[in-house]
Amino acid sequence: MFYKSTRGSKDIKNAAQAVIQGISQDKGLFVPDSFPKLPFRLEEMKGKTYQEIADAVIHSFFTDYTEAEIKHCVNGAYDSKFEASEIVPLVNAGGAYFLELYHGRTAAFKDMALSILPYLMTTAMQKEQVDKKVVILTATSGDTGKAALEGFADVPNTEIIVFYPSEGVSQVQERQMITQEGANTHVFAIRGNFDDAQTGVKKIFNDSQFASELAESGCMLSSANSINIGRLIPQVAYYVYAYAKLMEQETVKAGEEFNVVVPTGNFGNILAAYYAKQMGIPVKKLICASNENKVLTDFLQTGVYDAGREFYLTNSPSMDILISSNLERLLYHLSGNNGEEISALMNGLDNEKKYEVSSSIKEGLKDFWAGFATVAQTNAAIGKMYAENGYLMDTHTAVAYKVYEDYKQETGDDTPAVIASTASAYKFADSVAESIGLVPDGDGFVNVRALHEKTGVKIPAGLKGLEDKEIRHRGVLGKDEMQSAVRKALK
Ligand SMILES: *Cc1c(COP(=O)(O)O)cnc(C)c1O
Repeated sequence: MFYKSTRGSKDIKNAAQAVIQGISQDKGLFVPDSFPKLPFRLEEMKGKTYQEIADAVIHSFFTDYTEAEIKHCVNGAYDSKFEASEIVPLVNAGGAYFLELYHGRTAAFKDMALSILPYLMTTAMQKEQVDKKVVILTATSGDTGKAALEGFADVPNTEIIVFYPSEGVSQVQERQMITQEGANTHVFAIRGNFDDAQTGVKKIFNDSQFASELAESGCMLSSANSINIGRLIPQVAYYVYAYAKLMEQETVKAGEEFNVVVPTGNFGNILAAYYAKQMGIPVKKLICASNENKVLTDFLQTGVYDAGREFYLTNSPSMDILISSNLERLLYHLSGNNGEEISALMNGLDNEKKYEVSSSIKEGLKDFWAGFATVAQTNAAIGKMYAENGYLMDTHTAVAYKVYEDYKQETGDDTPAVIASTASAYKFADSVAESIGLVPDGDGFVNVRALHEKTGVKIPAGLKGLEDKEIRHRGVLGKDEMQSAVRKALK
């Protein structure tokens, strides 16, 4: 299987090369040139372990890796670092099935991909005989940064550099990042929002002079953001796994459809569900849930993407995004792999912050349904779910749940639904505590303890003792200082 750029240049790579490079030279994203069929018959999937499914799904996309190499990556990633033995439990509550993707080291779903990416990357470096040091640049809205730092800390021949918006991550998220250990880790707050951080990182990637300067000192850049195909493909596995579980529990028979609901920011997670559908998993609707930054809701309803709008800081900060990078991949697939068309749309986004897709792409968007939830609706959903079912949702998952309720009401469709549950409630303890009726404290760590006392839900190991850890990364940069920060970090 080969990987092409969404912007139509002749930059064609195998999976290992695409993983190392991160983003195409023409600024496009790498996409598979076709979708593989499911590696098993639906019936056969019942009873398979997470690792078995991940092995087969990842290998069907990454065909240039050997079976043994994929197994090594999967077994290294999905082990006792996860606090749930089944890796991703599927929990029935309040009329939906919550796929809990947050039992990894950093308590958010980013661990699903970022636990395995360092293995895929180092294996690729060996396969491709790369003798340079790979410098991973990452922009984060809060969760990617910590998961990437944990994944790459002290991995030989790599440096990991993370930029996060100084205002716009939760106290727990920030503390997780600035206390990161590891000799190759670098963390910077920047003055601006996530889009500024992501744009700054993309700019550094596209600076060919900087690239040759780095090459001279034996370094090359790569990305741990979901623009890297090595992050996207491992996420396909958990939608396949969720379907296996639904069959096992006899919620569906083999071949019967289910809905998937995803709290969406950069469009990576929901795109992975779309990939699972293309492989043959019977997904009915892909339900895209946004917070007040509802650029995707509007887009999926109208076909007009308009990022020229007010940006809101919400209590689901990992979705406070106006430029959703992975949407570009979906548009490419829906355009019938027309790189020129996508290139023109993305130029429109760069120049006018806006584009409208063709009628044939609009037709393809009908697989999706979209809605959004306000902060007040999100908090109300958390409170109601806890009061009625004793189930604790984080703010992002609650956005998805609220949008799912709207979907059911508007369409009357009660097909079983899997909701991607993307973070532990403890990462957003301030909002969650308040939502279930506690009086929130100004200190997020006090709220973590109060939430635990009230609910008895276990505090993830990675968040315990966090407030007492040594702060190792300090300082705030202007967004035009990112490149010089990279230079300094590599000295
Ligand atoms: C990153 C993140 C999201 C958004 O996922 P995308 O793949 O960027 O759409 C949602 N919830 C949480 C908790 C996240 O960390």
